Amino acid sequence: MFWEKEKETMDRKSLENLQVGLLREKIEYAYNNIPFYKRKFDEYGITKKSIKTIEDIRKLPFTTKIDFRDNYPFGLLARPMKEIVRIHSSSGTTGKPTVVAYTKKDIKIWADLVARIAKAAGVTDEDIVQIAFGYGLFTGGFGLHYGLENIGAAIIPASSGNTKRQIMLMQDYGATVLVCTPSYALYMAEVAQNMGINPKKDLKLRIGMFGAEPWSEQLRKKIEESLNIKAYDNYGLSEIIGPGVAGECEAQNGMHVAEDHFIVEVINPETEEPVKPGEYGEIVVTTITKEALPVFRYRTRDITKLDYSTCKCGRTSVRMHKPIGRTDDMLIIRGVNVFPSQIEEILFNIEGVSPHYQIIVDRKGALDTVTVLVEANANLFFDEMKKQKLLLDKINDELKTTLGIDVDVKLVEPNTIERSEGKAKRIIDKRKF
Ligand SMILES: [Zn+2]
Repeated sequence: MFWEKEKETMDRKSLENLQVGLLREKIEYAYNNIPFYKRKFDEYGITKKSIKTIEDIRKLPFTTKIDFRDNYPFGLLARPMKEIVRIHSSSGTTGKPTVVAYTKKDIKIWADLVARIAKAAGVTDEDIVQIAFGYGLFTGGFGLHYGLENIGAAIIPASSGNTKRQIMLMQDYGATVLVCTPSYALYMAEVAQNMGINPKKDLKLRIGMFGAEPWSEQLRKKIEESLNIKAYDNYGLSEIIGPGVAGECEAQNGMHVAEDHFIVEVINPETEEPVKPGEYGEIVVTTITKEALPVFRYRTRDITKLDYSTCKCGRTSVRMHKPIGRTDDMLIIRGVNVFPSQIEEILFNIEGVSPHYQIIVDRKGALDTVTVLVEANANLFFDEMKKQKLLLDKINDELKTTLGIDVDVKLVEPNTIERSEGKAKRIIDKRKF
């Protein structure tokens, strides 16, 4: 199902022409309205004439989170506050948060982009949607809210937290779609089970739209089974617009990027050069329709790869693979690059292990150590020591073979690893740099 079929199925040549035209316009617009970009473009000798083909985007300088911080709070805005209708910001766990703002036109575009990803996942105006993303400064709650309202679905703005009450609302109001982080969906499934609720019989859920953190295919399967739904991934970040940058169609084989609004590139984060087609790297995003806060070549720090092959849904846009992690989450253990999602994938394939885990990185002398805490499922934990030992050996072996490093695996009692109502905290890095 489409929201804006003509735009979603545009042929590549027309799409690239559109992108080049919009990019040229935005360069001139940013130059005239944002002192930060005027300075940068002067420094790099960039004018709209610098862009003749889509590849010319590489001539532009990158924008980073640091640029947002340096221009805190409103230095990157292209419009006066009179024209701004909404302000959001990141959680800002360290230092000042990242502030973003929207004009009326930006909000309209955002609601259409979210409507696209919801339609692509099969949501209709008949659906009842429970939004369990936090409402507030975070773009997730309000972003999904206005997009889903746009397509005419009935929304339960539950926000995050109070999980038992979430389950009660879900059951009593007959929610058919759940929106939240994948780790929260997993936790909800567990709470529902403890409340004696059988999702197949007692709930009407059919679709999950999950985002805001990287998650593995194995976690998708686990959530689909335990909640009896189809689970779709979507991608976005507040610096770009919020959710709605990309979303999966019913084929569930990568997220279609809204390329008529965003130009995406994948680069090697160290050399800053483009990776070979189909290779993993950091996704870099340029906005070409935003009014309040146009951003050029934003370094997302998300690691993914692009697929330009045709999709059976009829959309022509490029698909981005589920991000396997963020450059900031990448652990460098004794010189080996490790993403938590790799450890997650291995754990999920081992029977007797529950999907809850935590990775603790520490340093003893000059040597990095990794401890993975894994919850055993209840039957196993109270089972005999011999069986536990066998399981531990198996996990150790698999991690060693796949990652090439020694890891200390510890089984912990069921329900001892902290559950998340938002983004899960999978890594505790105790090393001091
Ligand atoms: Zn598709």
